[in-house]
Amino acid sequence: MTTEPRFIVLVGPPGSGKGTQAARLREILHLPHVASGDLFRENLKNQTPLGLQAKAYMERGDLVPDDVTIAMVMERLRRPDCANGAILDGFPRTIAQAEALDEALAARGQRIAVVPYIAVPDEVLVERIGGRRLCRVCGRAYHIRFNPPRQPGICDVDGGELYQRDDDRPETVRQRLKVYWEQTSPLIDYYRRRGVLVEINGDQPIEAVTEELRAAITA
Ligand code: AMP
Repeated sequence: MTTEPRFIVLVGPPGSGKGTQAARLREILHLPHVASGDLFRENLKNQTPLGLQAKAYMERGDLVPDDVTIAMVMERLRRPDCANGAILDGFPRTIAQAEALDEALAARGQRIAVVPYIAVPDEVLVERIGGRRLCRVCGRAYHIRFNPPRQPGICDVDGGELYQRDDDRPETVRQRLKVYWEQTSPLIDYYRRRGVLVEINGDQPIEAVTEELRAAITA
């Protein structure tokens, strides 16, 4: 495996499997998994000023403003474990965020290695999001049908309680998908023009998607 810094940006709609795949890739690539949604949820849980700022946007299924989001993720990327790369999941979600990331990496003499775009049809996303459950302790994602835990309601890894995200309710999901198509999908072209985009078929079993990703990332 190469020792060059590896920044991998996973792009895809909500429910495409970014979080699930990032957790698997972290084990394979030995890179930290930086998920902006997880960072926001942690701030919300701890009732930090940042969490309180983000709360209303998250509840509506809207994006948190760019300045707040960019500052939070950049702080995370400056930590030593990200010196050699990271798997970014859920960030960037706007062109302004993508430009901020490019600039921050360039200032470090680094750049994005590859941007896998996990493509999944909308109707599949709605079904996946409806059955999604997360561990309260480690944040690991399950699906009640497609990726169930060994014991219902309990995380396989740490025994934590599984819960459904508030923003996984159908009304909010529709808004999140709309926001994705309006504000985030332009990133597909942004990264395609830079020659780093690789399209991955996300409408396959979890292991098959991981294999496609692994091949794309290590190519
Ligand atoms: P996720 O877990 O990635 O689906 O993110 C959950 C929610 O956190 C989103 O619906 C947004 O409200 C907020 N969020 C996460 N990442 C970003 C981002 N890069 N930009 C703006 N808002 C974000």
